[in-house]
Amino acid sequence: MNPRKHKQAENARKPKKEQYNPYANDPPEAFCPYCGEKGKSCSYVNSLSRAWSRGACAIKHNNIKIHNTDSME
Ligand SMILES: [Zn+2]
Repeated sequence: MNPRKHKQAENARKPKKEQYNPYANDPPEAFCPYCGEKGKSCSYVNSLSRAWSRGACAIKHNNIKIHNTDSME
């Protein structure tokens, strides 16, 4: 018995609609202040790789936030 083979067969049986969303655990309101996108690697920073994505997005958008996340008083 090959446990890996068994897992592959299990995955194949799943409908294609149920795609694994790596950002499913993000807060629903999380978005990237630079591109304004939700559900992207730059939308919510909870790891070093995603911090890089956010940084890359900031550079791409010339560090201009389209959404102001700072509260104005
Ligand atoms: Zn972004």
